[in-house]
Amino acid sequence: MKAHYGYEDGSGRFYLTVDTDLCTGCEDCLAACPAEVFEMVEEDPIDERMVAAVSDAHRKKLKYSCNPCKPSGYTSLPCVAACEPGALAHSW
Ligand code: SF4
Ligand code: SF4
Repeated sequence: MKAHYGYEDGSGRFYLTVDTDLCTGCEDCLAACPAEVFEMVEEDPIDERMVAAVSDAHRKKLKYSCNPCKPSGYTSLPCVAACEPGALAHSW
């Protein structure tokens, strides 16, 4: 399942997507993110598998939370680079 976190406003669409089928729960994105955007949540209460999610505190301000990682001409992001399975994607 692709879990989309974020919002749209007059300046664009700001979504961070976690592909929970690919997420292994390794927590490398938590360690890599300087803004503490991520948290671990139970994907399914039955199997208790933990996956990454965007915390409530950042869901409505991702454009600003991620801004320091996205200087003009940036070529990679710490969270995306840390995620070996390729479970993370940004819309902007
Ligand atoms: S780095 Fe990728 S695989 Fe690991 S917890 Fe984060 S999203 Fe999941
Ligand atoms: S772009 Fe930077 S601040 Fe945004 S989630 Fe990734 S590591 Fe965290």
